[in-house]
Amino acid sequence: MRRIKSKGMLPELAVRRLVHSMGYRFRLHVRTLPGKPDLVFAKYKKIIDVRGCFWHQHGRCSDSRMPKSRVEYWRPKLRLNQKRDEKNTRQLAILGWKVLVIWECEVQNAERLRRSVSQFLS
Ligand SMILES: [Zn+2]
Repeated sequence: MRRIKSKGMLPELAVRRLVHSMGYRFRLHVRTLPGKPDLVFAKYKKIIDVRGCFWHQHGRCSDSRMPKSRVEYWRPKLRLNQKRDEKNTRQLAILGWKVLVIWECEVQNAERLRRSVSQFLS
């Protein structure tokens, strides 16, 4: 059976390190906002959310494939995660926050990541 990574901290740490090195300051996991978003830039009213491809079911990403066993367990669980993400993103938008979602599989390409972060925050 393929290995299922738990909600890894590594992608989020990599993003935090990069954004910090770009000179931006942020708060982490703000409890008062829907979904406790990962990186919160209050000054800009912007949020960066780092999502694991499997747990948050990244579109056509190969890391989001449903496990072949215990589908009846995984399917509803992963659907629920997706629903929750959609709801949180909607609520954040209503509150006036802009959200950039960074997927786990996008973290490896540091140069591209840097570009999308600086575009988003500028
Ligand atoms: Zn992905």
